[in-house]
Order: sequence, then C-alpha cells, then structure tokens
Amino acid sequence: MSKEKERAAYILKALAAMYPDAHCELNHSGPFQLLIATILSAQTTDAHVNKVTPALFALAGDPAALAALAPETVENAIRSIGLYRNKAKNIMAACAMLARDFAGQVPQTRAELLRLPGVGRKTANVVLSVAFHQPALAVDTHVLRVAGRLELTAAAAPDKAEQDLMALWPPEAWIDAHHRLIWHGRRCCKARRPLCPQCRCRPYCRYEGLLFQARET
Ligand code: SF4
Repeated sequence: MSKEKERAAYILKALAAMYPDAHCELNHSGPFQLLIATILSAQTTDAHVNKVTPALFALAGDPAALAALAPETVENAIRSIGLYRNKAKNIMAACAMLARDFAGQVPQTRAELLRLPGVGRKTANVVLSVAFHQPALAVDTHVLRVAGRLELTAAAAPDKAEQDLMALWPPEAWIDAHHRLIWHGRRCCKARRPLCPQCRCRPYCRYEGLLFQARET
C-alpha cells in the first residue's frame, strides 16, 4: 500500500470513529423522493429541503403526478428554498422525462440520470449510492473543503477531486467516505472556524498549523 493510501485509510478510520452512523440527511422514502430532494438541495441546506418536501410529496407521490401539477403549485410548495423557480422547472421537467422515458422509475445508471434536467454528477452519485447502493463518491462543497484541508486532493474541481478520492479508497469504502466527509464538514471541519481541538483527524492534518502561521504573518 502506498504512503498516500495508508494515510487515507487512517483518516477514514478516524472519521468512522467520529461518525459511525453517518448517513444521508435528506428525508426521503425511495429513489423518486431522494432524486427530487437532492435536486432541491443545491446551494441549500438539507434541513431546509426537509421542511418543504413533505408538503411537496403530499401533492405528488410519483413523477407523473408531479409533472402534471401547475408550475405555480410546485413553486409555492418550495418557495422558501433558494433558486426555487429554477428548481421547480427542473423537477417538473425531470419528472416529465421519468414518466415518458423511464416508465416512471428512477434509472439506475449514471448516464441515464445525467439526462434528467437539474441532475449533475453530484446528484447522480448521491442517487446511485444512497438509493441503489452502487459505489459512488459524491463531492459537494463539504467534501471538497474537508478533503482539501486533509490533503487528500489538491483539486479545486469536484470531478477531479472525486477521481482523486476514489483512487485512495476501495470502492466498498466510497459511500461511507462520502457521508463521513460531509458530516465532518457540517459538524467539525466547518468552513469558517474548524473545531480542530476536537477532531480525530488532527494528527494527519496540517491545516490548523497553516491557519496559525497565516494569522501570525
Ligand atoms: S484538524 Fe481541523 S482543519 Fe484538519 S480536518 Fe480536523 S477540523 Fe478540519
């Protein structure tokens, strides 16, 4: 095992000790709801999405029903989240495509998922890994930040970071790694003030020292 992989394995172990139960925090039941919730979660917190999805799913329980709603009805249901007009348009178009081209089912391949309006690589990876338990490592803003601070990747682009992380861990570790990096970013390695003294990754991380140096100079 290379030094980099050995280090990455230690970091994953430390994160597993901190977040043994890390999981997707978007409330959902089944692939359809997860897909819609994930599209809605772009640039919005999961907690915020969880506040609007119960009413939305009460209005429409499947893609055909959601696509048949009036646009204003969908907009009103999700109005409190960011970019709601665009997101309403995307989820309605995605649902129309699911009903028309996929017999109302969420497809289980990345290529098919990426055809759906509003679905990028991150959303496709979340659906593949959480709904269908396929090895995939979705990179969001938390994963990118934490992985960068821990020097698991130097990439600024999520797609490149995803490739770097997948090369460090075996496929069976990707799903847990994704959840644990997100939980770490939300709970400890926060964007503005990381809580380094309580972090089990501290022995493998130079970021706190670099921050300190930056403040001193
Ligand atoms: S030591 Fe600090 S910067 Fe490094 S991973 Fe932990 S919380 Fe983040």
